[in-house]
Amino acid sequence: MTLPLDRFAAVIGARNVMTGKDTAPWDQDIAGEFFAPPAAVLRPASTAEVSGILRIATETRTSITPVSGKTGFNGATYAPNGIKLSLDRMNRIRDLRPAARAIVAEAGVVLSKMHEAADEQGLVFPLTFGARGSAMLGGVLSTNAGGSNVLRYGNTRDLCLGLEVVLADGRVLDLMSALHKDNTGYALKHLFIGAEGTLGVITAAVMKLAPRPRAYLTATVALRSLGDALVLLNRLQAESGGAVEAFEYMPREYIEGHLALDRKARPPFADRHDINVMIELGITSSLLAAQRPDGTRPADEMLETVLAEMHEEGALLDAVIATSETQRREMWTRRESAAAIAYLRSCRLDNDIALPLDRIEDFYAAVRPRLGAADPGIDELTVAHLGDGNLHFTLYPTSTDEALHDRLREIVEDVVAELGGSFSAEHGIGLYKLPTMRRRKPAEVLDAMRSVKRALDPLNLMNPGKLVPPAN
Ligand SMILES: Cc1cc2nc3c(=O)[nH]c(=O)nc-3n(C[C@H](O)[C@H](O)[C@H](O)COP(=O)(O)OP(=O)(O)OC[C@H]3O[C@@H](n4cnc5c(N)ncnc54)[C@H](O)[C@@H]3O)c2cc1C
Repeated sequence: MTLPLDRFAAVIGARNVMTGKDTAPWDQDIAGEFFAPPAAVLRPASTAEVSGILRIATETRTSITPVSGKTGFNGATYAPNGIKLSLDRMNRIRDLRPAARAIVAEAGVVLSKMHEAADEQGLVFPLTFGARGSAMLGGVLSTNAGGSNVLRYGNTRDLCLGLEVVLADGRVLDLMSALHKDNTGYALKHLFIGAEGTLGVITAAVMKLAPRPRAYLTATVALRSLGDALVLLNRLQAESGGAVEAFEYMPREYIEGHLALDRKARPPFADRHDINVMIELGITSSLLAAQRPDGTRPADEMLETVLAEMHEEGALLDAVIATSETQRREMWTRRESAAAIAYLRSCRLDNDIALPLDRIEDFYAAVRPRLGAADPGIDELTVAHLGDGNLHFTLYPTSTDEALHDRLREIVEDVVAELGGSFSAEHGIGLYKLPTMRRRKPAEVLDAMRSVKRALDPLNLMNPGKLVPPAN
């Protein structure tokens, strides 16, 4: 089939239609997987241009895969010989309204630029994770990304007030409300959040901002059990009025992996512990953050008191509280090395799962014997957003046998289902999790999803083959 590249060029200019070697930056995702050069990459600069492209795509039956920062993990931007529509030139912050705690930004704005813009106003755009220097607003909305502080601020869906979307046929949906309450029919914006580009192209959004904490309290603690970690989390939430922003679990193998990855890294404690948790509280109250003449702050005392209680009870084995920005950074660097640590070994199965907080110990108790029976010698690595129940549970099977890998995936899925969890917490479905979608989602749920897809994209042009498995 001849692609209508000349017609696209008439809308966005020939130099914004990339072909041949010029598509190299879009040939694969950042993790280096799912390599597949597209036939062309289109780089529109406005909503009107996106609309023009999609009108032509509909007329010519041309599939389109939207792409933002390419940091997704599930092959959701894979489009061999297809057309990718990159939002990278739509990178304007249209408005920032400090009093309304709202920012209006285009889909190609990089996450860290949102952070900087909010910071200039003494505010924060809370969504953050390791790929913040590359991931873009359109991508994080389309994957409903989570990250390290979902516990306090919710995931991307919770931070979104309004959305601008171009439908597959080129019509523009203006849902750019800055309202916190708006019960005027179906909440259409939520259909596009987490849709992985299968229903339309997000071109802009209104996102929430939050007050910038006056102080961050950051610590790494070693605990006796994951049950004790939950007790600690609940006590800190109660004492701080819900100020816990990060509660990140790193078991012994993770700490060792980090030391292997980075020769300059230091272990958190002199002794090695099985259960290590990095905690961060963001203190917005001036009363709690105010420094007394002797240099102490009520917020530090609150944290120290809770940790001391847990220590006396025998639940807390060790603790280090960061006393400088350098020490805080060191703790974050350890946590944000997760992808590099997991990728140290190549024969790997990634599981991004969510569990109710009080079932996490049950998960390990149930899954380990079953995995060990299927593949004696199998290894595992966890790093977890423990505070919201999201485990990145990577398996290292002893062989590359695909049948074995399928069995192992199904064991994890079984246990997750038995405990009321989810097989995809924050990374989405893409291509990688399509088989799991097919076998785990109830048939009527998949049918409802297919109906939505047909209603909004009847020709199946938007990122085809992702997210919802075909009916047969
Ligand atoms: C080091 C590292 C750490 C990470 N940590 C986290 C984490 O803690 N939490 C987390 O949730 N994720 C994490 N991720 C995964 C990834 O960063 C997120 O999935 C991110 O939201 C993807 O954004 P992106 O701009 O890179 O999107 P892309 O990868 O470019 O696209 C992702 C999906 O969105 C679609 N899409 C992109 N733009 C649009 C648009 N404008 N309209 C419609 N559809 C669109 C694409 O078609 C694709 O389906 C991490 C990734 C890395 C590399």
